Amino acid sequence: MRTEEARPVRLKDYRPPDWLVETVELDVSLDSTATPVRAALTLRPNGSGAAPAPLVLDGDALNLRALKLDGAALPPEQFVATPDRLTIAQPPQRRFRLEIETVVDPSANTQLSGLYRSGAIYCTQCEAEGFRRITYFPDRPDVMAVYTTRIEAEKAEAPVLLANGNLVRSGDVPGTTRHFAVWHDPFPKPSYLFALVGGNLACVEDRFRTMSGREVTLRIYVEQGKERRCLYAMDALKRAMRWDETAFGREYDLDIFMIVAVSDFNMGAMENKGLNIFNDKYILASSETATDTDFERIEAVVAHEYFHNWTGNRITCRDWFQLCLKEGLTVFRDQEFSADQRSRAVERIGDVRGLRTHQFVEDAGPLAHPVRPAVYHEINNFYTATVYEKGAELVRMLRVLLGAENFRKGMDLYFSRHDGQAATVEQFVQCFADVSSTDLTQFMLWYSQAGTPEVVATGSYDARAKSYRLELAQSIPPTPGQPSKQPMVVPLAVSLVGREGRDLPLKLDDGRTVERGVLTLTKSVETFVFADVAEQPVASLNRGFSAPIKLSANLSADDLRFLAAHDADPFNRWQALQTLATRLLLDNTAASRASRPARHDPGLLDALGATLADGALEPAFVALALTLPGEAEIAREIGHDVDPDAVFAARAALRAAVGEYLAGPLFDHYRRLSESGPYRPDAASAGRRMLRNTCLDLLVATQQPEAISLAARQYQAADNMTDRMAALSALSLCDVPERAAALDDFYARYADDPLIVDKWLTLQATVPEPATLDRVRALTSHRAFSFANPNRVRALIHAFALANQKEFNRADGAGYDFIVETVLALDPKNPQLAARLVSALKNWRMLEPVRRERAEAALRRVATAPSLSPDVGDIVRRALAKD
Ligand SMILES: [Zn+2]
Repeated sequence: MRTEEARPVRLKDYRPPDWLVETVELDVSLDSTATPVRAALTLRPNGSGAAPAPLVLDGDALNLRALKLDGAALPPEQFVATPDRLTIAQPPQRRFRLEIETVVDPSANTQLSGLYRSGAIYCTQCEAEGFRRITYFPDRPDVMAVYTTRIEAEKAEAPVLLANGNLVRSGDVPGTTRHFAVWHDPFPKPSYLFALVGGNLACVEDRFRTMSGREVTLRIYVEQGKERRCLYAMDALKRAMRWDETAFGREYDLDIFMIVAVSDFNMGAMENKGLNIFNDKYILASSETATDTDFERIEAVVAHEYFHNWTGNRITCRDWFQLCLKEGLTVFRDQEFSADQRSRAVERIGDVRGLRTHQFVEDAGPLAHPVRPAVYHEINNFYTATVYEKGAELVRMLRVLLGAENFRKGMDLYFSRHDGQAATVEQFVQCFADVSSTDLTQFMLWYSQAGTPEVVATGSYDARAKSYRLELAQSIPPTPGQPSKQPMVVPLAVSLVGREGRDLPLKLDDGRTVERGVLTLTKSVETFVFADVAEQPVASLNRGFSAPIKLSANLSADDLRFLAAHDADPFNRWQALQTLATRLLLDNTAASRASRPARHDPGLLDALGATLADGALEPAFVALALTLPGEAEIAREIGHDVDPDAVFAARAALRAAVGEYLAGPLFDHYRRLSESGPYRPDAASAGRRMLRNTCLDLLVATQQPEAISLAARQYQAADNMTDRMAALSALSLCDVPERAAALDDFYARYADDPLIVDKWLTLQATVPEPATLDRVRALTSHRAFSFANPNRVRALIHAFALANQKEFNRADGAGYDFIVETVLALDPKNPQLAARLVSALKNWRMLEPVRRERAEAALRRVATAPSLSPDVGDIVRRALAKD
């Protein structure tokens, strides 16, 4: 455990490694408390520096047992070993073999980084810097080596032994009750992609024939008895493998691809070469245990980790500053996969909602950082929405700017030019510049400037000249360390929509054509004049959310209702309704704070009603159109002096108003969408359930007895988890006797299934009532809860802090106090999880003065606590920093 404040690591200080590792032979003899690890490294000087280089290997809480150089024990005066470093001051300046023996205690590893036990299973998590908790190593992604791993264990305890690559041999250890397996991975990889697993696991097996005709064995390992719940994940894996061949020409490269599901995991999943390790939440699913959203997430996460085989593993990152190179790109790829598997419009809306809720909010606060940060203290804190989700938007913008064909060419060039390398963002972007002969220098600002660009669009029609003038002005708000910004390249997909709802031809008055409907804004202020515009149009801007910006346009409520009904771009149809709702919610939040009466907007209600009545629209789209912007998003729009109670009240009132106004059609749709026949998880069926449950939710928002009993009946009658959870979730927001009865029933039904009990914990944590905090506190002592399991902590405590804006931000500060206590208790055991939790306080400056003061005091209590981990220390220091 490192307790001192970590020194900052800066991108500009990058130096190539002095030493490279050609091969790693690991011999790991699994034991629950004392696992010896013997590592034999073949090292050679990188030849970069003129002076002889010392050898400095990273460690973290390591205990050196023995050290040999070229077969001979190294005398103690020739090296220094501390828990976090092994230094050989004068190693031979040639290729040599170093043998290192350490001992690790998997049972005591509560950080879940390095080698640890999840239940009775041994597993590893090495990204970002976990390998150094197993053995001393140059633990940086630009040191790529070929690994051979021998694992040994008690046969009874760990009949299954897995590592990266292909199985070379296995057998019993003569004269013992132990056995072994040797795995060899022929592809050089950085240490963060190393993995091993040992345990008593069941296995589901399938096969895949690649596009060149190679047979690959596919295996998913899970707890005994849960095999049936892996079938959807296996199906998703095969679809992902096929899709990567057709969409990107990428084929799988080993003889076997394995996934292991474990229950104690800090992240969602990890793309270790050939041996993905997953949080079981993203593998296990059946109609009785998982919701449609769970199925969708499983499909996306399985695909994401698989896609890393090319974007992350074959081509890895030179250093951790380039994290977006693998994550942003792979998120983009999994979003595209989901769009192709499901509905492109629905996927895009879902992705943008996620971006606004998480990334825009992050970008507006003290933890804002560029997609490629220039400095970090603790890399674990940069697995953020900015690196992942905004990183994906930057890749998408390249496609918008260059067109699909050049984009694919750029990707092909990237794969061929950098295969087997540790690459940088510059090298990635250069591939697109080369194939399209485009200068992308200004585009690189997207990687270095933090903050969400704000674009103001002012359009005006000149009926006499038949021209439409569009003025665009961009600005980027200051963010920590970046008080002023340069203008960026903003690709805006646009259309001028005519009276009939048709897109009018786009012709600029200077004779330029608008390629693929995209205007490219490159200056702070720019004006585009369209010629030959026959009629007064309504501008549809940033179609498909072509750039991740905050756009405000001079569109009237009538214009927005027109777009909601007619825009050919489904994203902007949805956006028009969101904009109308946001305007109303902002007004009514202000009204509530000033004790003024709320404004009513019958136009919005009619527009929502028209969307619901439009039989041509897909049900999932209609469901999203009927879903109001979330509280976090509204708070970010308000920006300062936010009163979460007022935001909640305005949103709850509007939900109820929609439910009341549209009660008739909502009931009709609810009845009409009832499914007959068995549950199927496909997108179309899921979309119908989603719309039906959205109707239910809006009806229940009215608190009418008829709606409450409808939800209670659905809860009881449901034959799948989606419908049961949706009914319970709608009920959970109402203070009615049916709620308690249903919650008790739910627990009684599923008490033995931790992943389902997580849903029960989350629902209770997100009830927007004053009693919730006490309830959450009490639940921390419930037998279903454990601070040692990240899924339980996230389901109860993170849900309270992140998804219950009203009760977390209680005016008396008790919500903050609870989070502070929890963070301080968690930090010594699992600093990554504690750091995630404390970042829930990141937007404290946005709050009204009473809450702001209490939130700041809470952060200061954490900051001054003794022995903080670097993870938590880094978050609170940045959250409190002045600039
Ligand atoms: Zn990833």
